[in-house]
Amino acid sequence: MEHRGGRQGRRRPAARQECELAPVVEHCPACGQFMRVAYLEHRTVVRLDGLWRLTLHVRRCRTVSCPRFHQPARPEEAGVWALPQAEFGLDVLAQIGHWRSREQRSVPQMHQALRERGVDIAERSVTELLHRYEELVALRLSDPARLRARLAGQGGVLLALDGLQPDVGHEVLWVLRDVISGEVLLARSLLGATADDLAPLLEAVRDALASGAEGTAAIPIRGVISDGQVSIRHAVARALPGVPHQLCQFHYLREAAKPIFEADRHAKKELKKRVRGVRPIERALEGYADPGDGQVEAARGYCLAVRSALTDDGRPPLAASGLQLKGRLEAIADSLDRVARAHDGQGG
Ligand SMILES: [Zn+2]
Repeated sequence: MEHRGGRQGRRRPAARQECELAPVVEHCPACGQFMRVAYLEHRTVVRLDGLWRLTLHVRRCRTVSCPRFHQPARPEEAGVWALPQAEFGLDVLAQIGHWRSREQRSVPQMHQALRERGVDIAERSVTELLHRYEELVALRLSDPARLRARLAGQGGVLLALDGLQPDVGHEVLWVLRDVISGEVLLARSLLGATADDLAPLLEAVRDALASGAEGTAAIPIRGVISDGQVSIRHAVARALPGVPHQLCQFHYLREAAKPIFEADRHAKKELKKRVRGVRPIERALEGYADPGDGQVEAARGYCLAVRSALTDDGRPPLAASGLQLKGRLEAIADSLDRVARAHDGQGG
C-alpha cells in the first residue's frame, strides 16, 4: 500500500485506510450471557503500510451479579494491530526489534530506514518503541501467582497467538495474549516458526496459569485463536491437548476478502453507470396526478427502490456492496417484468 505525504512535516497525515473490528466472542466468558455492543471506540495506528483508522465495536456484560459486569470486551483482533493505547503497530515494534537484535542498528539508522519506508515517525518515538520492545520480550511469567490473581474472575483465558514478521527472512515476534483482559502474557522473537519453536511458549503460559503452591486457583485456557498456520496447530495440539483452537476469523476473512472487495467495488461502479436517470423520471412523475389505478404511485415506488439500492453500502468483508446492489436491482427488474407481463395479459 502506498503512503503519501507527511514525510517532511511533523503533522501526521489524515488516516487513509480504515478497518472496522468487531468481537468474535458475543457471550460473556464469565457468566455466559449475550453481550450487546455498548459503544464504538476509534483508534489510529501507524503501521509499516501506513496510517490506519480503526473502529472497534466494544461489547459489555450487563449482568449485575457477574464479576465482569460492565467490563469492556474489545475485538480479539485489536491486540495484533497494536499494544493497548499504542500509537504504532506491533509490526513497527517487530521491525525495530529485528534491526536492533539481529543487525545492531542505532536509533538514528532505524529512524531513517522507517522514514524511507514511508512511516511517519519521530526519532524519540523510535527510542520509546525500542524500550517497549525490550520490555515486551523480557516478560518472564516469573510471578505466576500474581498473574493468576490478576486474571481471576474472568472465567478463564482466551489465548491469541500471533507472529509478526516485518519482512521475509526476518525474525518473528511471537505474541501470546489473553484477549479477554487484553494482557500480553508472553512475547519472544524467534528466527524459526516450527511447532518445536512454538510449543515451549504455549507450555510456559500453560504452566504459569496452572495452580501451584501459591494458593491461587488455576486459570483455565478456554481456547486458542490464531491464523491457523500448520505449525501453530501442531504446537497447540501438543502443548494444550483438548483446548479448542479457532482460526482468527476476522484476520482470515479480511485477507481472503481483499481481492473480492476490489472486484466488487469495480462491479458496483459499472452497475451504477447503467442505472442513471432515476431523478428525471421522479421529477416527471411529480407533474402527474394519479388516474386512480395506482400506476403513478407504483412508478414512484420503483424509483425509490432503485435509489435506495444505489445508496446502501455493504460492509466488507462480510457483505459485498456490489453483489448486494446487483441482487436488489435484479429484484426490481423481476418485479417490473411481472407487472409488464400482467399488463400484456390484460390485453392493453
Ligand atoms: Zn458476565
